[in-house]
Amino acid sequence: MSVQITPNQLIQLIIPGITAVFAFGFACAWFYDRRLRYLRLLAASFVAFALGSAVQICHLPDEWRLNALVSATFYALSIQLLAEGVMRRAGLHLRLVTHASMFVLVLAGMHYFSFVTPNLLVRIYILNFSAGLLMLFTAIRFRKHCNGRIINHVLLWVLLIFGVSFFIRTSLTTIQPLPHSTAPFARTIFWVLLQLSLALMGAVLGLVLLAAAMSDVIDRLTLERDLDSLTETLNRRAFERLAGRRVADRRSYPLTLIAFDIDNFKSINDRYGHAAGDAVLRQFAAILRAAVREKDVVARIGGEEFVLLLPGADDKFAYEIVERLRTVLESSRFDEIEATLRVTTSAGIARYRPGEDVGALLARADQLLYAAKRAGRNRVVGESPGQTRDAPERDMV
Ligand code: GH3
Ligand code: MG
Ligand code: MG
Repeated sequence: MSVQITPNQLIQLIIPGITAVFAFGFACAWFYDRRLRYLRLLAASFVAFALGSAVQICHLPDEWRLNALVSATFYALSIQLLAEGVMRRAGLHLRLVTHASMFVLVLAGMHYFSFVTPNLLVRIYILNFSAGLLMLFTAIRFRKHCNGRIINHVLLWVLLIFGVSFFIRTSLTTIQPLPHSTAPFARTIFWVLLQLSLALMGAVLGLVLLAAAMSDVIDRLTLERDLDSLTETLNRRAFERLAGRRVADRRSYPLTLIAFDIDNFKSINDRYGHAAGDAVLRQFAAILRAAVREKDVVARIGGEEFVLLLPGADDKFAYEIVERLRTVLESSRFDEIEATLRVTTSAGIARYRPGEDVGALLARADQLLYAAKRAGRNRVVGESPGQTRDAPERDMV
């Protein structure tokens, strides 16, 4: 079988060519960060679209009914992979059986209107309306997962416009009287415009998706830079940056900082080994994270030193939280150390004074923390004498 490509077809092949470049872009982004697995679906979607339009343009296979079916298979696959990719990125998905049913329905329709009752118009309707519906459905599900990110809002709008455009473009086919076989139709200026508008929308969607992927890669790198790998809380640098933003924002006031230091931590390392010490640090961080609100900042700023920054928290609220944490820790069991021994923490609570910087706030909280250490450990010290709470004497590590 020899395939003769005309200059006209060669120009049209630019469309699958550009689509393939997008697929390559997604594949590269996935290669860079393999945890972003939705990128594989997007790459596959763009490959499927490139194949669909290439076989259509090159008349492969030459028999038009088979050609319609083969290209429709690739197009349907492409749109479903795209929808799934966008949803997976937002932590959503469609069940496999839903995808399979949609796919079979579309192809059954395409088969019927190619082989049993050939009808080009109905085939165009089936492909485009199913694609438009799936795009709109994806956009609607995606809309609650924008998380305030601009790129997600742009993506949402592109999905909506893309979805609606399938209906508009397809409805235009009723204005133009159509020939009923594909060969002459493919030569009409109308078909070329149809393909071009689809390609244009596809390119816009491709660009927005690539931008979203890049922003995801950057977000992950930023998170890795900001997170302490042992405890998965923020590290000191990230804390200083976030705390700087909080102190600059009057809506965070009253703003309270709590400094924690695990008591006699060195002896845990000495008696049970460094790995046991690490496990205690991880568990302590998990207790802190579980106790705070979304807007609070938890960070590990030193070996066994943690901080908690509470916006909109007065002294009473801060004391309640610290006391709760202190008693939870005191009564926690650690697999790595003897059950009779308790891990305890001392804490200092300092209220932000407008005008001071984060360093000064931290230094005051630290002074109070060391006052708690001097007073015997396993206790919380606030700024005025009445704000100090001691724990009953316990068997400490
Ligand atoms: P205090 O009650 O006065 O705070 O006594 P401490 O023993 O807790 O304090 P000290 O500063 O003497 O010891 C802290 C220890 O923490 C020393 C260091 O080896 C250990 N440490 C620091 N970072 C890590 C870590 O990432 N993992 C483990 N396992 N230990 C760490
Ligand atoms: Mg300590
Ligand atoms: Mg220390």
